[in-house]
Amino acid sequence: MGPAHSLSGATAWLAVGAVASGLGDPMPWPTLVVGALICAGAALAPDLDHQAATISRAFGPLSRLACKIIDGLAHATYRSTRKTGDPRRSGGHRTLTHTWPWAVLLGAGCSAAAVYGGRWAVLAILFVHMVLAVEGLLWRQARVSSDVLVWLLGATSAWMLADVLDDPGNGKAWLFTQPGQHYLWIGMPIVLGALVHCVGDALTVSGCPILWPIPIGRRRWYPVGPPKFMRFRAGSWVEVKVLTPAFFVIGGASALGALGVFS
Ligand SMILES: [Zn+2]
Repeated sequence: MGPAHSLSGATAWLAVGAVASGLGDPMPWPTLVVGALICAGAALAPDLDHQAATISRAFGPLSRLACKIIDGLAHATYRSTRKTGDPRRSGGHRTLTHTWPWAVLLGAGCSAAAVYGGRWAVLAILFVHMVLAVEGLLWRQARVSSDVLVWLLGATSAWMLADVLDDPGNGKAWLFTQPGQHYLWIGMPIVLGALVHCVGDALTVSGCPILWPIPIGRRRWYPVGPPKFMRFRAGSWVEVKVLTPAFFVIGGASALGALGVFS
């Protein structure tokens, strides 16, 4: 499921770029490219509540510890907020990190860190998401190479991309142009990536409680999803033959639109 999540995240950000261009706020190309990579990485992040997921293995013992904490927090949140219609469950997988408040909090937190934390905060956010983007988009290659190589690639690309974005007119001030608002946009691909992940899960598994804590009937963790016949298995022919090519076509067309090729 990793590659499909990442690819849908990148495509979603390119589509945002096309819309922004249509609305008269075109992204400079570094914002488009870096945002797509951040969104590709962020689209793996909600599975930090599952120890077998890419993200939980991506940063060695650090991410395994984070996974334990997040899973515990998610499980505790589930137990303390469930209504009578929500079943009992033994772990936190696909609960708290698969909701819109989590997506918004994570994005807002990263935006605040980038605005108030300066260059090192931006570098840290870029590093984490570049490593995830590599793991997600190049998963075959990432699997045969060592973790350390992927971290080196993440660190160097984060450093270079921050330099490119920092050049005047090159993207750090996209959409938020006032002094002190540089990199405020960086939370947007992070929110979008998390939401795209939830949509993907809703389509492939038995729903995703994205609306929590809004109650639906006797449930607060209602698994939102399409009717059964519209769901497909991860790795099935629908994903390989229909969705993946569609992401490439939509993503490519969006990127051209975002860069103003059609106007
Ligand atoms: Zn998930």
